[in-house]
Amino acid sequence: ATPTALMVGTGRGAQLGILIKGPEVLESTRRVDTVVLDKTGTVTTGRMTLSGVHPAEGVDEKELLRLAGALEHASEHPIARAVAAGAAEAAGAAGGLPVPESFEAPRSFENLAGLGVQGVVEGRSVLVGRERLLAERGIALPAALAGAAAEAEATGSTAVLVAWDGEARGLLTVADAVKPTSAEAVARLRALGLTPVLLTGDNRAVAETVAREVGIEEVIAEVLPQDKVDVVRRLQAEGRTVAMVGDGVNDAAALARADLGLAMGTGTDAAIEAGDLTLVRGDLRVAADAIRLSRRTLATIK
Ligand code: ADP
Ligand code: MG
Repeated sequence: ATPTALMVGTGRGAQLGILIKGPEVLESTRRVDTVVLDKTGTVTTGRMTLSGVHPAEGVDEKELLRLAGALEHASEHPIARAVAAGAAEAAGAAGGLPVPESFEAPRSFENLAGLGVQGVVEGRSVLVGRERLLAERGIALPAALAGAAAEAEATGSTAVLVAWDGEARGLLTVADAVKPTSAEAVARLRALGLTPVLLTGDNRAVAETVAREVGIEEVIAEVLPQDKVDVVRRLQAEGRTVAMVGDGVNDAAALARADLGLAMGTGTDAAIEAGDLTLVRGDLRVAADAIRLSRRTLATIK
């Protein structure tokens, strides 16, 4: 490989909106056969909105939203932002902005990565998160809530359970839209002979709904943030050469471990730092362009 030809490749990359860490990165794209795509923020917009509120029997809807909103207000997670904004809007805050005045600040707060949040609000010990979080704490779901959760997930919404003082109190649903360009991006990756894989911490039903919508068959769901890197390792152990596309802090280790890491430019600094390439505009279709460009650049050199 002549350095000049590699530099030409990287210059063309910049025009397409691809930032390449160094010319040597192009070499790693040659053998890539599998592209692992993070779901939230990569295949979907990551801008979620509160789409449904289901209080458990005997629970006041306003109280449900107030306690969940107060706790999620302290978290940066896209789901938390949606819950806090929706709860603030329901409480009458202008424009749905989660102004602190809408809620009492939690007396304690803890982020449980990949599961949810917990803390003390209005003197109650509150949990907000996925079903598994409640199960881990031995909190049973009333049949009505379990049914509503399953229904939400079947349509691609994320079910957010709320519990306090040891009992499930309600379900909030949060919806995230698939980016309009994702299906085309997946088709372009396939056209290059690559196998797309959807990877997410979200539950299987949501993941499969999104996968179907964009044309992905292989789905790896319910993966804790710290375990995403192990998924990449496992695929590599199967003999596959893996590109990973992600945007979140929870994708950084997997991006670094992958044979080729592609970070969404709209994502977190941690992801961008860990990636070999950055898709500047956060357009997933450019992932295929990047791989095609690298291959073509290498073909020119040979
Ligand atoms: P992803 O891999 O899709 O980016 P995460 O690993 O951050 O998602 O989280 C996995 C799952 O844990 C989420 O889909 C959600 O069900 C739950 N979760 C995480 N943080 C929160 C939160 N602050 N509030 C509610 N649910 C949460
Ligand atoms: Mg993400």
